[in-house]
Amino acid sequence: MNKKLVLDYKEKIDCEVPMQMETLPLYEEQSFSQWQQEIPKKYFQLSPDEIINRITELKKNMSNELIILGHHYQREDIIQFADQIGDSYALSVYAANNHSVPNIIFCGVHFMAEAADILSSNEQKIILPNLEAGCSMADMATRPDVSFAWKELTNRFNGQFNIIPITYINSPATLKAFCGANNGIVCTSSNADKVIKWAFERGDKVFFFPDQHLGRNTSHQLGISDELISLWDWRKPDIELGGNTEEKIRKSKVILWDGFCSVHQRFTASQIKEARIQYPKIKIVVHPECNAEAVKEADAVGSTAFIADYVNNAANGSIIGVGTEVNLVSRLAKLNPSKQIFCLDSVVCPCSTMYRVHPAYLLWVLDSLSNGKIVNQIQVPEKDKAFAKIALERMLEIS
Ligand code: SF4
Repeated sequence: MNKKLVLDYKEKIDCEVPMQMETLPLYEEQSFSQWQQEIPKKYFQLSPDEIINRITELKKNMSNELIILGHHYQREDIIQFADQIGDSYALSVYAANNHSVPNIIFCGVHFMAEAADILSSNEQKIILPNLEAGCSMADMATRPDVSFAWKELTNRFNGQFNIIPITYINSPATLKAFCGANNGIVCTSSNADKVIKWAFERGDKVFFFPDQHLGRNTSHQLGISDELISLWDWRKPDIELGGNTEEKIRKSKVILWDGFCSVHQRFTASQIKEARIQYPKIKIVVHPECNAEAVKEADAVGSTAFIADYVNNAANGSIIGVGTEVNLVSRLAKLNPSKQIFCLDSVVCPCSTMYRVHPAYLLWVLDSLSNGKIVNQIQVPEKDKAFAKIALERMLEIS
């Protein structure tokens, strides 16, 4: 195998907050994606300052031709270049409403760039600086696995009840298309409650994937108890009904896919209890991808945008423990120096896939654009695009 140049995000598992751009080392990467175009080595020989200066210059020269979108979980070295910062919902709304700019560089992960491609115009090009920036949660629900489960559910209970599929936006376009084609819908962590209510106006049960925690927490919020929720174990396709009995499925209002976010799984109820002992006046805010026990112990739960508002609007002198990705928490702490803001998990890691968008990749795609070449364009196949758009537009309509 050839030597490949990749980002050394793996070295960050000692979990220090990665606010500085590191120099890029060389190492052998066995699983480097086959579809990633190879970034020329010259970009890794540049110093961090050279990279930043060149991005600044190129962005200025091409200001009419492109827009850079930056997800809240991106590192500061990327966020400084973002024309629009937001969570996956805000950035998809932005892509849906801004059809005039020809190129959108999406500094986020793969499913976000796909959503932007679905909602943008046919003429716009969506570019993901590093195609290796995926999402481990999105990878937990594939179209074949979900179709297999759907077939089992619909065949077994044929005509007995109507199930509405809901996919979290953190999922591949093929699953959004699946929902569009099966009277289903997409949701984000900002609107999951409205989307589930929408589904119950049209069906008897909800099949929710890939994040079991967002599904469970939102169900609880809507008054649906654990007795009315099933968990579908997709890892054992030879076990019937995802490990549930017929009676359990019949009784359930919500069937959850057994997926999760590895970053948000790190936050626990005991961390919150310990923080309350240490700081009796502390307020705790967590993301709904955290488990139900942590959510129960928190003062507030909400999307990335909700968390940012919660911290920004808190009174001076507030102490707030936050259960979400550490790049965002560090940025909020920096923006709110009169408050004590910290991540609930003292050894929390950044989202390793978000972290693959290194400034060297941003420079590479900008450089290529300035030479009339597009690298790392995200193009959802037309057969999926039409149905995925239906599911996304249903969501945008009710939000
Ligand atoms: S934070 Fe979790 S859900 Fe978000 S991109 Fe990273 S792995 Fe995926």
